[in-house]
Amino acid sequence: MAVDLDVEEPNLHLFLHPVVEHTEEVAIDIPIVDESTCDFCRKCAEICQFKAITVFGDIVLTYPEMCHGCGGCMAVCPQNAISAGKRPLGEILHGKAGKAGFWMGRLRVGEAMSPPLMRLVKQRIGQAARSGSAPGSAERPAVDLPDILPDILIDAPPGVSCPAMNAVMDADVIVLVTEPTPFGLYDLKLAHEAFERLHVPMGVVINRSDIGTLDTRTYCRERGLDIWAEIPFERSIAEAYATGKIVAETEPRHFDRFRGLAQTLMDIDMRRNRQQEGNHA
Ligand code: SF4
Ligand code: SF4
Repeated sequence: MAVDLDVEEPNLHLFLHPVVEHTEEVAIDIPIVDESTCDFCRKCAEICQFKAITVFGDIVLTYPEMCHGCGGCMAVCPQNAISAGKRPLGEILHGKAGKAGFWMGRLRVGEAMSPPLMRLVKQRIGQAARSGSAPGSAERPAVDLPDILPDILIDAPPGVSCPAMNAVMDADVIVLVTEPTPFGLYDLKLAHEAFERLHVPMGVVINRSDIGTLDTRTYCRERGLDIWAEIPFERSIAEAYATGKIVAETEPRHFDRFRGLAQTLMDIDMRRNRQQEGNHA
């Protein structure tokens, strides 16, 4: 299954050309305060970790664009003075890309926060896997999912901030994609340090591997990070990418690089499964 969680700028569909079977508009619950029943106790403001609701004297102010939709303020309000309004987040698309299932989140233009939409995409995948059908209406086509979740490949947003962490926090294996430049190495170090606390196998793919310096390889060697694949800097690769083509298909001489990367991931997964079976035995 391929999942595009880079919801601010999804692009997996440009390469996989999925048949989209279902599109769902999604929103989060934001607080609407009825000041006629509010006693200005401040409990809502105290629980909100995002400063999206504040109380000044006898005025309650909400900042809908900062709300993460956690529902905390509604749960603690002793006067039941807060009801749920909606802030549109974007849409979730679902379908097939060849034999693979395909899911994608697309953030509404102007929406600042992607983690709530990313969480909803994951939630929908879980619901679909559990029910064996797409969540929601009965007219929606059944999703052809196996009894257990298939292997899921997530396209994560770049960086190490909340969106990137949200994308990788359930991952069994993390692939760090970098370039052998000082800038690339700086970002690689940040990502490595942020994600190593998840204690899952991590490896590196070096893009444009024949430019830059050797510092990235030195860092990987010193920190015990395996380099799982290297992709050279070639015009034909850039051209394939720019026209929505898959390099492994358009450039057969590069096929083995990607096949090798896939095999590495499958081997790690197999070892992990064996280890888990051993732990259960
Ligand atoms: S928790 Fe409810 S009653 Fe208390 S200040 Fe907030 S909205 Fe008002
Ligand atoms: S729903 Fe959560 S994030 Fe939004 S205002 Fe209430 S407590 Fe804050």
